[in-house]
Amino acid sequence: MIDLIAPLVSVVVPFHNETDNVRPLYVRLRAALDGADLRWELVCVNDGSRDGTLTALISLQAEDARVRVHDLSRNFGKEAALTAALDQAMGDVVVPLDADLQDPPEIIPEMVAKWREGFDVVNAVRRTRRGEGRFKRASAFLFYRVINRLSSIEIPHDTGDFRLMSRTAVDALKLMPERRRFMKGMFVWVGFPTTSVFYHRAERRAGSTSWNAWGLWNFALEGITSFSQVPLRVASYFGIVVALISTIYATFLLVRTLLFGNPVSGYPSIMVAVLFLGGAQLMALGVIGEYIGRIYEETKQRPVYIIRRSWTGS
Ligand code: UDP
Ligand code: MG
Repeated sequence: MIDLIAPLVSVVVPFHNETDNVRPLYVRLRAALDGADLRWELVCVNDGSRDGTLTALISLQAEDARVRVHDLSRNFGKEAALTAALDQAMGDVVVPLDADLQDPPEIIPEMVAKWREGFDVVNAVRRTRRGEGRFKRASAFLFYRVINRLSSIEIPHDTGDFRLMSRTAVDALKLMPERRRFMKGMFVWVGFPTTSVFYHRAERRAGSTSWNAWGLWNFALEGITSFSQVPLRVASYFGIVVALISTIYATFLLVRTLLFGNPVSGYPSIMVAVLFLGGAQLMALGVIGEYIGRIYEETKQRPVYIIRRSWTGS
């Protein structure tokens, strides 16, 4: 007998070329959640995989009606796929999980226990990052430093998308209409009483990460421009500083000319000033362009994702 009063846990997972992880994920999840005092569903979003992921998901769904599968019309990217999965989740609590089993489903009952204590958000904080190179670690560290300095929200270090959210928190998240979705920041922005549980992050089980250095760089830019307007201000401050320095320099030149005359023409100093200011202006324009591009995308009001077909029946 299923206890109908037991809370429904929605585990939501985006899948992009993860054929070899589909069944192990399901098996581990079932082992972790069956027997705990809760009901669960597995909401799978196939994000335009080009391998057998969808087939594997559909056959899993045929075996177990608690698995629900939604296929996006193409690859929309992880953030969009996660948004789709969150929108489809019906649970009292929702737990986003990576398909590669880097996040252990075994700690979900512990997270649910924290939720029962009254917390709306339970972050899963990784103690270790195995299987990630020095470059990834260093860039992650730098990224958190920079974005927390520049924005008004405080994104916790070493917290991925793996966390538990109450229905209220998820509904709040759904109110955020932006098309460019930086989920790490959005999770924090909604607020709510938050606590943490700790775990050791494992290596990717199979397949390879879809991230490369350029992708990470763009992800970082996305985060900073979504949650901070400091870069826009940098240009104005920089302008003020340059203007000040050039006033001082002009005074110095004036005084020197008056006292000693002007023995050499000022060609080098002019070139330096012109090139320097030209570069600075191009940089500032680039920053402004970055934001205008985002405004343009938001104004188009396109949907974040498109679901091609769903398999949810029993
Ligand atoms: N993912 C996705 N769409 C993409 C890229 C990734 O849905 O375009 C999924 C992927 O299947 C996995 C999760 O996002 O479930 C995290 O991806 P990955 O393991 O490559 O990222 P990392 O763990 O290195 O941050
Ligand atoms: Mg991963």
